[in-house]
Amino acid sequence: MSELPYSYEAQASQALFDRAAAVTPGGVNSPVRAFRAVGGTPRFMVSGTGPYLTDADGREYVDLVCSWGPMILGHAHPEVIAAVQEAVARGTSFGTPGEGEVALAEEMVARIEPLEQVRLVSSGTEATMSAIRLARGFTRRTKVVKFAGCYHGHVDSLLASAGSGVATFALPDTPGVTGAQAGDTIVLPYNDLDAVRAAFAAHPGEIACVITEASPGNMGVVPPLPGFNQGLKDACAANGALYISDEVMTGFRTSRAGWYGVDGVRPDLMTFGKVMGGGFPAAAFGGRADVMAHLAPTGPVYQAGTLSGNPVATAAGLAQLRLLDDAAYEKVDAVSAQIRSLVTEALSKEGVAHTLQNASNMFSVFFTDRAVRDYDDAKAQESFRFTAFFHSLLADGVYLPPSSFESWFVSTAHDERAVQRIADALPAAARAAAEATA
Ligand SMILES: *Cc1c(COP(=O)(O)O)cnc(C)c1O
Repeated sequence: MSELPYSYEAQASQALFDRAAAVTPGGVNSPVRAFRAVGGTPRFMVSGTGPYLTDADGREYVDLVCSWGPMILGHAHPEVIAAVQEAVARGTSFGTPGEGEVALAEEMVARIEPLEQVRLVSSGTEATMSAIRLARGFTRRTKVVKFAGCYHGHVDSLLASAGSGVATFALPDTPGVTGAQAGDTIVLPYNDLDAVRAAFAAHPGEIACVITEASPGNMGVVPPLPGFNQGLKDACAANGALYISDEVMTGFRTSRAGWYGVDGVRPDLMTFGKVMGGGFPAAAFGGRADVMAHLAPTGPVYQAGTLSGNPVATAAGLAQLRLLDDAAYEKVDAVSAQIRSLVTEALSKEGVAHTLQNASNMFSVFFTDRAVRDYDDAKAQESFRFTAFFHSLLADGVYLPPSSFESWFVSTAHDERAVQRIADALPAAARAAAEATA
């Protein structure tokens, strides 16, 4: 981290941040929002419309975070807002089944062929936690394979990092996760099928499931190499384990059918969140009907939620999904490609070593000249250049994720004017990245 710019333009945000820090640890309700990786004052946003966010100081930004993915139609899309208002007026929670959750489940099942049944929950974390429990209950096995750099929410057993060497048992990644919770997790390098085969060979009959991000976006964008997901699926099938594809980020984002729509590898279980909630807390896990039948009340694996299938959240999610037709994805893909080429052009012009990677319309920049295939590659980038790049863009009204290990997101609302503002801000940001020192 080079400097921590105190920005005059962010006085109202700073005042809110000070108030927040008194009553909330670090002043935020999710750590990345605190700007610790880049320094400076986190912007407190007060409104969003289309591709723009407005902060407490009245400054407008082109938003390239889109709430970390969900706002694929842009902020305050009129049809989504109308659906929410209509739902809210009928009452906000009943604790009973309702038609909205049926309609949302039907829409999801219709889009994704291997998704035979879904159970709605309220966050991506809850979805992956429940999918892991179900996989263990179904297989009557304990061990879980995950990949370094893949994030599946703050599930205890999945907040684990690799011990030394390949295929050793995981160590807790955070205080509060016990050795026992992490000890049944095997952490492997991403995109390494040999490591997966070795783990199955070392633990015959013990591995309940392999969980992977369908295409990782939580170490920056690091797509699976050709054949990797199919190799995972085959290794699971050959060893009686379940293949869990975490589509919380990619689901309904990378295509109408998420990453499954791109690579066609059939998971046993899948997890969803982000886009499917339309900006509200709605998430889901689902997949093979014979596996899902093991869930309560039809089966013995317990799982429940007071606000699961909430009528306002499901109305928002359904309205958003119904607007996400092929034309919408074409639009998001096209604007993503346009911004990617502008970024590469600006950085190349300043001679800044970088690699731009994408998975459909998800993309990120790594400040390294080498292809990034796993978490070690991602960590080898010159993150100090990102810090300078980020702050230059922020000052010029472009809001990037405040970390070099995150995907950037665009929406159908990112129009020519928004793209032009990014284009105008990029040359100075590229220069700042070029001049940055560690
Ligand atoms: C965001 C994310 C999660 C966690 O979802 P929350 O709603 O934040 O709990 C899980 N998996 C992946 C791949 C994600 O990107």
